[in-house]
Amino acid sequence: MAERRLSHAYMLAGPEGPERENAAVRLAAALLCAGPEPPCGQCRDCRKVLAGIHPDVIWVRREAKDSELRREILVGQIRRMTADAVLAPNEAARKVYIVDQADRMNQQAQNALLKALEDPPGHACFILCAAAADGLLPTVRSRCVRVDVGAREQKDAGMSDLAKGYLEAAASADRAQIVLYCMNRTRLSREDTEAFAEQVKDAVRDVLCGRAQDPGLGREGLFHLAALMDKTEDYLRHNVQPKQIFGLLAAETLR
Ligand SMILES: [Zn+2]
Repeated sequence: MAERRLSHAYMLAGPEGPERENAAVRLAAALLCAGPEPPCGQCRDCRKVLAGIHPDVIWVRREAKDSELRREILVGQIRRMTADAVLAPNEAARKVYIVDQADRMNQQAQNALLKALEDPPGHACFILCAAAADGLLPTVRSRCVRVDVGAREQKDAGMSDLAKGYLEAAASADRAQIVLYCMNRTRLSREDTEAFAEQVKDAVRDVLCGRAQDPGLGREGLFHLAALMDKTEDYLRHNVQPKQIFGLLAAETLR
């Protein structure tokens, strides 16, 4: 089994909605999955996470008061979360805390979270969902692996940004991050997927020629990505759909 390097804090940046929520659930499954290629979707942990009934996935949301939602996530909620995070998981190897609308945490709540991010219990992972990353303290942001989700990225990101994001995800060697990256690309058109492969190859070439800095892939890692892009172009020629191609990339990027 490939060694997994996982971060203990992620920030899912993107507009509120089912897409972001879905990404958080998939990421939680990837973090808890016991299979060799998380999230496998088949193991007991994956199935429970996807069904929303895993006891080691804990959502933190704005609380209701007088039948209305409070404006902010309060420090008491975050303290309860971090106190719970110290306790061992119920079933899985880890515990995942998903803070929805994390940009609604007030300053005090963020400072309480920061302490947990600075010295996290070994088994705890935190996923912060936020529409506006700058609603979070820079000290909180800097401790999270940022993953952009949702329409904004698909629409606005230039192709070279896409390639850059892919290289960075690959360099992180963080399987959950790579899976999320690929998951967010499954709706690219064939043309865009072709352009993506071309851009990644250009970016690899730039690093190999010393025109750009190596994000941490090393020569072998760079050659591996270039070979994967050749494979991608081959798949496209054989009419494999982008959705399947990105599924394959999610599985093979780390090998
Ligand atoms: Zn699984």
